[in-house]
Amino acid sequence: METKQFKSESKRLLDLMIHSIYTHKEIFMRELISNASDAIDKSYYRSLVDENISFNKEDFYIRITADKEARTLTITDTGIGMTKEELENNLGTIAKSGSLAFKNESEVKDGVDIIGQFGVGFYSAFMVADVLTVKSRVLNSQEAYIWESKGTEGYTIEPCVKDSEGTEIILKIKENTEDEKYDDYLDEYKLKTLIKKYSDFIKYPIKMLEKKSKLKEGSETEHEDYFEDETLNSMVPIWRKNKNELKPEDYDNFYMDKHFGYEKPLKAIHSSVDGVTSYNTILYIPAKAPYDFYTKEFQKGLELYSNGVLIMEKCPDLLPDYFSFVQGLVDSADLSLNISRELLQHDRQLKFIAKKIKDKIKSELEGMIKNQREKYDEFYNNFGKQLKYGVYSDWGTNKEDLQDLLMFYSSTEKKLVTLGEYVSRMKEEQKYIYYATGESIARIEKLPQTEIITEKGFEILYFTDDIDEFAIKMLTKYKEKEFKSVSSGDLGFEVDDKETPEEAEGNKELFNFIKESLAGKVKDVKASKRLKSHPVCLSSEGELSIEMQKVLSMMPNNSNVQADKILEININHEMFTAVKRTYADDKEKLKTFANILYNQALLIEGLPIEDPVQFANDVCNLMK
Ligand code: ADP
Repeated sequence: METKQFKSESKRLLDLMIHSIYTHKEIFMRELISNASDAIDKSYYRSLVDENISFNKEDFYIRITADKEARTLTITDTGIGMTKEELENNLGTIAKSGSLAFKNESEVKDGVDIIGQFGVGFYSAFMVADVLTVKSRVLNSQEAYIWESKGTEGYTIEPCVKDSEGTEIILKIKENTEDEKYDDYLDEYKLKTLIKKYSDFIKYPIKMLEKKSKLKEGSETEHEDYFEDETLNSMVPIWRKNKNELKPEDYDNFYMDKHFGYEKPLKAIHSSVDGVTSYNTILYIPAKAPYDFYTKEFQKGLELYSNGVLIMEKCPDLLPDYFSFVQGLVDSADLSLNISRELLQHDRQLKFIAKKIKDKIKSELEGMIKNQREKYDEFYNNFGKQLKYGVYSDWGTNKEDLQDLLMFYSSTEKKLVTLGEYVSRMKEEQKYIYYATGESIARIEKLPQTEIITEKGFEILYFTDDIDEFAIKMLTKYKEKEFKSVSSGDLGFEVDDKETPEEAEGNKELFNFIKESLAGKVKDVKASKRLKSHPVCLSSEGELSIEMQKVLSMMPNNSNVQADKILEININHEMFTAVKRTYADDKEKLKTFANILYNQALLIEGLPIEDPVQFANDVCNLMK
């Protein structure tokens, strides 16, 4: 018999399973039952849409059989089955190859992370079994195959005889070790508990033969044993259950079972809506962004059921992009089973449900801001960026929906605050909502431009994400208050001129000279009204700010757009005395000064300087 090799990545994963020290080995049961249930779903679906296939309800079930002597645990399903090719492809390779790819070697070492995070399906059986045997026969076929593997060495596939369609998975349970009592997985009581815990909601009966005892016929004292089928799960899908029957663990277990995420979700939202269109839904807000969330590979969507039958695994039309992180499902009896994907997009009922879901998520998040602020902070750290993109994209169509969910770091509160909170704290004489942009909070805190605003006692919002300023530009206002960058020309309050009119007249020529020596780099050179202790800074005129220029210049095929920069000089700074003196004594040298000041201002802004070598030489020359 030919032994085939596993693909190398699968081999690695298998190795992890076999040697796993993972303490929740029992999850293998959940994985196998969920596969069985998916397989039956497929048969069931076919029976509903294909006239040539008919089933009785009793034909759909999962059976668990434990044989203590043989040390085997068998999971049988009456599902769709696997062809020879499917056995090879589905069991010889792992589907979730990404899960290994993004983890580095040390993290994967004992597999705890991987197993905990992904469940890793079928292979998890190797945590408790030395040998795995899969017999399968597909719907409407006479052929059956047996697949067998003892672990990393590989697997065999042979034709076999199987009486009925479906799949049978036989686990040869490992011998007990010092640390692990594998016998548990052959114990009926333990198995029942596991099924109740993880698979109660599975909609097909999970059956087990139970040993019972009755009085022997004709006897009044003697008993005899007999076997009777017992259904171990309640079969009511969790989303159809009453909310007050369910515990938080139930939602968490369901989330894990569905592989919606690898950590307990931050929040579960369960609702039943009755009306023209009725539906049940369970929505989850994950605690962490999935590893591929900010990549092109990520697909948003909710599971869509029509009266309990899965019709689409990821229905994207149910979620707006800005809520793409939401996981979960919708079940509605008002959707047609046979509806095609194309038609579904235009389905009135689906649109209605999508709108309701969007409103629900929004109101839940708003509730979290009010009542569970720490949770919301956690949420925002993971998904805030997505909301900000949401404000910006589609030409701001969704900004009203999202503005109350935004948060930014506040200069006075030293934490994330909402725009509503900011506005409620605004001073009477304060005209604008101020913001400052930079790479980090620490960096913004040192920005010269913030000084004068802080001195006025006004709060400043710190923008550290690239998207922030773009989103705010799209918003333009919040509660009638305009946003204003601390670097903009007009700050909305009177600032005493630092120059007397005579001084201004005297400095005019000097500033002109500096401006000319920086030709093409700055639009103007001015005496700063905002600087207190710092010598220079840059501000900008017009719509495009320096921060936005920075972001745009990093984009692929950027058009090299430039903000209109103003070099502001602090005329009360000692440096300015030297500048004036040099203007009188040595105009050539002042050109060097002008360049140094300009480059310093660029560095403070976090912008690259054109010629760092020249700058360094200029500074050294001065030191001489
Ligand atoms: P996942 O279920 O996440 O896709 P698994 O490793 O658990 O990953 O299973 C791989 C694939 O093998 C499944 O997607 C399915 O196509 C197939 N499979 C597993 N178990 C069964 C089963 N009992 N009946 C039919 N197909 C199955």
